Order: sequence, then C-alpha cells, then structure tokens
Amino acid sequence: MIVAKFGGTSVGDAAAIRRTAAIIRGRLDRQPVVVVSALAGTTNALIASAERAANGQLVAAIEQVEALREQHLATARELIGTGADADDVAAEISMLFDELAHLAEALSVLGYLTPRSLDTISAMGEQLSAPIVAAAFRRHDIDTVLVDARRVLITDATFGKAEPQEEAIAAAARELLVPHVKAGRVPILGGYMGSTREGVTTTLGRGGSDYSAALFGAALNAEAIEIWTDVDGMLTCDPRVVTGAQLIEHIRFDEAAELASFGAKVLHPNTIAPAVKRGIPVFVFNSLRPDGIGTRITSDAPAFPVRAIAGKGNTMVVKVHSPRMLGMPGALRAIFDVFARHKTSVDVVTTSEVSVSLTVDDDQHLDAVLAELRSFGDVELERNRGIVALVGAGLGESSPAMAKAIAAIGDTRLHMLSLSATGINLTMIVDGDQVKPVMRQLHQAFFGTGAA
Ligand code: ADP
Ligand code: ASP
Ligand code: MG
Repeated sequence: MIVAKFGGTSVGDAAAIRRTAAIIRGRLDRQPVVVVSALAGTTNALIASAERAANGQLVAAIEQVEALREQHLATARELIGTGADADDVAAEISMLFDELAHLAEALSVLGYLTPRSLDTISAMGEQLSAPIVAAAFRRHDIDTVLVDARRVLITDATFGKAEPQEEAIAAAARELLVPHVKAGRVPILGGYMGSTREGVTTTLGRGGSDYSAALFGAALNAEAIEIWTDVDGMLTCDPRVVTGAQLIEHIRFDEAAELASFGAKVLHPNTIAPAVKRGIPVFVFNSLRPDGIGTRITSDAPAFPVRAIAGKGNTMVVKVHSPRMLGMPGALRAIFDVFARHKTSVDVVTTSEVSVSLTVDDDQHLDAVLAELRSFGDVELERNRGIVALVGAGLGESSPAMAKAIAAIGDTRLHMLSLSATGINLTMIVDGDQVKPVMRQLHQAFFGTGAA
C-alpha cells in the first residue's frame, strides 16, 4: 500500500487532474490511497473571502465565492462532462458554495472571525477538490471511493494548527480505508483538514496536506509516502529564489525535516515525523514529469557537509538580558517554560552568561510571552528578521564548510549564528530583506550557481 498526495498545482485544473489520474492508473498494483489538496489558489481565496466578510465587505466576499464556484463547476464539467455522476458532483459543489455564502453573511453580521470559523471555511477547498478528482478518476476507469478525511484524521481542538490523535486515526484508517484497499478500490481523501472527536472541522495549518498524507501513511503502515508537486523533488534551494537549484536524489529524514522547518515549502515541516516513526520512505515527485527520478527521503543517505539551503522571513528575535538571573541554575528552563505555556515554539537559541536570544515566527501569544519574560530582566523584541539555514549531515565535522559559509555572506549583518548540536544545520539570523540575497550567496559558494 502507498499513500500518494497531490498538491494544489497537481490538481489545479482539468489537465492537471487528468495527469494525476494517469499517474495513479500506473500505480494501481501498489494499492494507492490518494490525498488531494485544494485546487491551486483556492485556500488563499477562501481565507481572503472570510476576512472580507468579517470586515464588512460582504459584496466583495460573495463575488469571490461566486468566482470560485464558477471555477470549480467549470473544472468539473470539463473533466466529467454530463451524466448522473456529473450532476452529483455539481450538486455537491453547489451545496458547499451555498453553505459558504451563508457563512460569509453570518461573518459579516458578526464582524469578526474566530479560528474555529476560519477552519470551517478554509477546509472547504479540499472538500471541493476531492469529489472532483474522484469523479475524474472514475472517468479514467479507476475504481475510486471518496472518503471524508474528517472521519479519519481525528485531531484536538487547536483550530488552525490542530494536533492529530494518532491512535484514533489508526483505528479510523483500519475501519474506513483498509477494507476499500483490500477490495481493490482507491480511496480519495482531502488533505489539510480533520475534525475533533465531536465532529468539529479543524485544519493542520497551511501546507498541511503533506502532513495528512504522512499521517495516513503511518496509520496504514504504508510502504511509501509519495508527495507529488510542481518541482522535480527536493532541490538544493528554493528554485523561486535561486537559479540553477539542483535535484537531491537521496536525503536523510533529519536533513529533510530541518529544510522543511527552515522554509523549504516543498514539504510541510511535520511530514517527516510520522514517516520516521514507522521507517516509511518519503518520495517527492513532479506531477508534470512523472518519469523523473524525484527525491527519496530515508534514514540513511550519504552524508555531505552541505546538502541544501533554506530560508524564511517574518522571524522575530526576542532578547532577554539579565545580569542577575541568567547565571542561576534553572533560569533557562524558566524562560523556555514561558514560551511553552503560551504555545509559542522557538526555532533558534543563542546564549551568553547574561543574555539569551530566541527566534519565533508566531506572534499570536507574543504579548503575553513578553509580559512574563519581563520578570527575568530587560526584554527586547526585534521584528523583520529572517533565518537562513545551511543543512547537511556532515556539516558539524567540516570546518572548511563553516568558514566558507561565513566568508560567502561577506559583510551582511548577522544577528545570531548557531550550529545545531547534531551538527546538521548552521542557522544564521539576518535582516528580513537579506534572506534571499544570502540564500543566493550561499548557493553560489556551495553549488556554483545563484548569485546575480
Ligand atoms: P504543493 O501545492 O504541491 O504542496 P508547494 O507550493 O507547497 O506545492 O511546494 C512546492 C514549492 O516549494 C516549489 O514550487 C518551490 O518553489 C518550493 N520550494 C522551496 N524550497 C524548496 C526546495 N528546497 N526544493 C524544492 N522546492 C522548494
Ligand atoms: N490547501 C491547503 C493550503 O493551501 C493545504 C495544502 O495545500 O497543503 O494550505
Ligand atoms: Mg504544499
């Protein structure tokens, strides 16, 4: 059994969905379970229309909803044509859009958006794409069954970033997916969304369909998890930032996880954990070039000092300065405890005897965090920073690589620098607008292309 996930561009229009069907037809002997994202751009549009409605721009919100309705109906028509199946899909799409229009009206009356209502709306993209893809698969003679992912992917109630409940997911997968697979059918599920045990819709966070695929893969003990996207695999850098990014054919789980968490959007950062737990290889393939080699992510891959470079903006640095406290036993633990209690995760840390600097990229609870931190000493917040990470399993043992990295960035201002204890990543905190230039300089130094 394999789990194959198709991202937004891989199901972006009728032609892309046909390519996806052909890929699955070629894999039927491997008993695929298919996870699909929303049609490209849909989740952004849904969120924008919810925000507009809540801000009192109901007309603009409804216009956006109607444009999405037309786009989905047109894609379905082009793929499925006419007939009973086509009528069913059109009815399902229309029903979801009627519900969406009602929700927009309700939000405009309320005048605010809660994380819970935002999840209800942003999960609709996958509820729309899955029936369209399922009907298209049937047109391609694939014996397909549509399964509501929310019945399988059980989560807690942390709206916007829900925590999956692994045992409940495994039990639901045994009940709702395995019998279909055994009977030779291909289950199709929407990614990104889940629901609480009470049945309230949740989401795993933006880009979460990769994570859904990994969770289903782990629950089914699949032999592989395939992530089908719009690039040839994991590359040495984001191809939208550098020219000449090269394919990485084989990479270790921990390297891929570091790249994902420092900005390589090709994989949602949580995708790797469920795969590692079960030792399931993850592959990244290009749905536009299905015969490509792709990237294989496993626990063993040759170690290189530098495998790839990732970067992300919108990072904030929190500095706590306290000559009194920080040398004392337990001070760091107490500081981290503040972040943990406010569910704010810390990416990079550096310390000295009298100060500690930490980076975060989520400011939802930051005011409360900062208020509590003030009891430790002086607290400063710096916004508009970014992180660039060099990742490679052999980095810790390679002083030339580190020297080369520092030399490559020239006189760019570095706010923090940290080599992870396992020596697989070197992270640099720079001004937000320097993230891309630094990624290019480093790619030029290590891979020979990228700088202008
Ligand atoms: P999908 O909709 O298929 O999930 P995403 O847009 O989420 O696709 O992820 C694919 C994109 O990730 C690529 O188009 C590319 O711009 C970006 N990306 C960032 N870093 C990397 C990297 N190291 N390797 C490959 N792609 C990357
Ligand atoms: N459709 C969701 C998003 O755009 C999930 C995904 O594509 O992975 O964030
Ligand atoms: Mg994605």
